[in-house]
Formats: sequence, structure tokens, C-alpha cells
Amino acid sequence: MDKQLLSDNISKLRQRVRLSAEKSQRSECDILALAVSKTRPAADIRAAHDCGLLEFGESYLQEALQKIPELEDLDLTWHFIGPIQSNKTRTIAEHFDWVHSVDRYKIARRLSEQRPPNMAPLQVCIQVNISGETSKSGATLEELPRLVRDIIALPRLCVRGLMAIPAATSDTRLQRQSFARLRTTLAQLQTIAPTMDTLSMGMSGDIEAAIAEGATIVRVGTAIFGARNR
Ligand SMILES: *Cc1c(COP(=O)(O)O)cnc(C)c1O
Repeated sequence: MDKQLLSDNISKLRQRVRLSAEKSQRSECDILALAVSKTRPAADIRAAHDCGLLEFGESYLQEALQKIPELEDLDLTWHFIGPIQSNKTRTIAEHFDWVHSVDRYKIARRLSEQRPPNMAPLQVCIQVNISGETSKSGATLEELPRLVRDIIALPRLCVRGLMAIPAATSDTRLQRQSFARLRTTLAQLQTIAPTMDTLSMGMSGDIEAAIAEGATIVRVGTAIFGARNR
């Protein structure tokens, strides 16, 4: 994509994050804008890196596996944010630093077993189905305490927090309601797992609401790279 446009988009995004942080008296440093680079070519990721972005999120494993080696010289941090099939856990454990979409014990156990010994523990967030829709992926609120207790016992994972993709809405009050639910859920789980310090919530359309409710990672695709074709 056009480098000037990309650089303008990133400046605007930084401004949005800064203003939202100020409004809720939070430090901008406590919020990571994770660049969601799914469907974008490696050249766009390289250009975003040139604008200062270092952490990238991918949802489609095959696509990510083509781009990661091409960008090896940049020392980027890779986050897997898509749905996980159990036959894909080894590849994820071998190529990513973070996984945001762990939603059941079997996946967590396999990621831990398959994490190469020479790599740092895999940083994981548990994906939560906060809207309770049966069609959505993510663990239910009821399943969480047990799941967290089981995951903290896994030696090659570090459980860092929660991730959610609430039902899309332009109503800021509803956006904040969902994000607030994730925040209070994390606070409860911190008594079980003190390493949980991360709220991965908010995308291009609802960054402000997410930051107001305590997001520490916002996952931003469209606002950086423009609309996706697929
Ligand atoms: C695609 C995607 C995003 C980015 O969404 P935008 O609206 O383009 O910012 C964030 N999180 C997940 C899990 C995604 O799949």
C-alpha cells in the first residue's frame, strides 16, 4: 500500500490511543496497538515496521507462515489471534510469541507440550465469549476459573489475560458494557493467576471504548492498513 497513507494512518491511530488514554487518566505506555496484518502482504508489514510498529497479529496460519520467514531480519513480535484447530498447535507454538485465542484446555495443553524448549514460554490470553452467543468462539464466563487453574499448571505457557471480540455495535454504551464485563472478569481471575495483566480488546471501530474500560492491547487492522478485500 501507499507508504504515505500508511504513515498517516499510523499517526492518526497513535493520536486516538493517546487521547483515549488521557481521557481515562491512563498512561499511553500501558497500551499496545497491535497491528493486525492478516491479508496484507509482507511489504506492508515491513513498511509499518519502518513507521515504528513492532508487534503484528495474524489470524490465518498458512498465510502467516509465508510472511514470518520473509520478515525474520526485523525481529518482530508475532501474535496469533485466529481460531485454533488442534492439529495446528505445533506450528503456532513454533512460530508465535503470543496467542490470544486459547479457548479450551486441550489447545493450551498441546501448545505447552509443543513449545520448543529453546524459546521463551508462550504468552497466552484466553478468549472469552462475553456476549454468550452460542455461535461465537471463546470460553464461557462459567468455564473460566477452572480453565485458568488448569492452564497455570502448564510449564511452557504464561497466562497473561483475556481476549474478546464482542458483537459489533456502533452504540458506545453497549461497547463499554461488554468491555467492562471483561475487565471485571479479569480482576476476579487475578486472585487465581497474578500473571494475568492483559486485556486484549478493542478493534478499529471501538478503540476508545476499549481503552476507557482498561484495554492493554487493542487489535487494529483496518485503521492501519485500510479495508480488507476478503
Ligand atoms: C481482523 C481482526 C481484528 C482487526 O479488526 P479491524 O476492525 O480491521 O481493526 C482484530 N481482532 C481479531 C481477532 C481479528 O480477527
